[in-house]
Amino acid sequence: TSSFSNENIPMESLEIGDLLGEGEYGEVYRGKLRTSVHEFLDVAIKTLKTEGEMSDWKKNEFLTEARTMLDLKHAHIVRIIGICWSPKTYMVQELCELGSLQDFLLDSPELINPKKHFRKWAQQIAQGMVYLQDRRFVHRDLAVRNILLSSVEAVKISDFGLSRALGLDSEYYTASQGGRWPIKWYAPESCTHGTFSHATDVWSYGITLWETYSFGATPYGEMPGKEVIDMVEKGYRLEKPDHCSDPIYRVMRSCWSKNPVLRPTFRFLQNFFDDANNHDEVAPAL
Ligand code: ATP
Repeated sequence: TSSFSNENIPMESLEIGDLLGEGEYGEVYRGKLRTSVHEFLDVAIKTLKTEGEMSDWKKNEFLTEARTMLDLKHAHIVRIIGICWSPKTYMVQELCELGSLQDFLLDSPELINPKKHFRKWAQQIAQGMVYLQDRRFVHRDLAVRNILLSSVEAVKISDFGLSRALGLDSEYYTASQGGRWPIKWYAPESCTHGTFSHATDVWSYGITLWETYSFGATPYGEMPGKEVIDMVEKGYRLEKPDHCSDPIYRVMRSCWSKNPVLRPTFRFLQNFFDDANNHDEVAPAL
C-alpha cells in the first residue's frame, strides 16, 4: 500500500506518459505513480478538461465518479487509486493494460477463445455487479465500451459517471432526462419513466452479453434510439449471435423480460456463468 491518502495525490508523484484514449471529460494517459523513493506503479491518468471547455454539470459528474469509485474495492471493478487536485484535476486509476472490451473484441478477435473467454468475462462482470448491488449501487451504463481488460483472463467494470446509490427506502432511482442516455442499453421502464434499479442494470448486462457474443457489433445496428424503444415495446428483441449457445441466448432473453421481476438476478448470473456449469449444446442423441 502507498503512503498517499487516497483523496490527495501530489502532482510531483505523477509521471504522465502516452495517450491511451479520449474520454468524455478529457484525455486518458498511461502514467507512473511514485509510491516510494524507488517504486513506481503503472497507472491510467484521466484528465479533466480545463475551465471554459466544460460545464459545471460535467465537472460534477467527473468528481461524483471519482468519489464513488474511491469506495469500491473489488477484483472486477476498476480501482481508483486517488485524485490529484492541483494544478489540474486528474483521476488516477489502476491501469488496464488491454484497454476497453469493445476495442479488444473488434481489433483482436484472434486472441479470443469465445467458448472460454466470453463465459469467463460474463461471470466476472456479474461478480462485480453483485458487489455493487450489495452496496445498493446502480451503474446505469453497463456496456462493452465501459468494461476494461487487465489481461485476456480478467475484465473490470469501469465508467461510474452515471452510477447512483439507491436511497435506503427505495428500490429504484428516478433520473431526470438530460445528458447522454445510452437508450439501446436501457430497459423499457428506464426509457419511459426514467427509473433505474438492479433489474435495469440486468437488462443492460444482457445487452453487454449480446455485444460480447457479437464481437463488438452495435445493438440494433443503425436503428435510431426512438425506433428501438418502439420495437422493444412491441416485443422485438436482439437476435441470437453466431457464437452464442441456446442456453446462453435464453439467459440473454430473460434479461430482457418486459417485467423487471422476471429478469434474473446478478447472483443467478454469477452462478450461471461459473466455470463449473457447462452451457455448451449437448449433441443430440442419434
Ligand atoms: P465513454 O463514456 O465514451 O466510455 P469516458 O469519458 O468514460 O468515455 P473512458 O471510457 O473512461 O472515458 O476512457 C476512454 C478510453 O481510455 C477507454 O476507451 C480506454 O481505451 C482508455 N482507458 C480509460 N481508463 C483506462 C484504464 N484504467 N486503463 C487503461 N485504459 C483506460
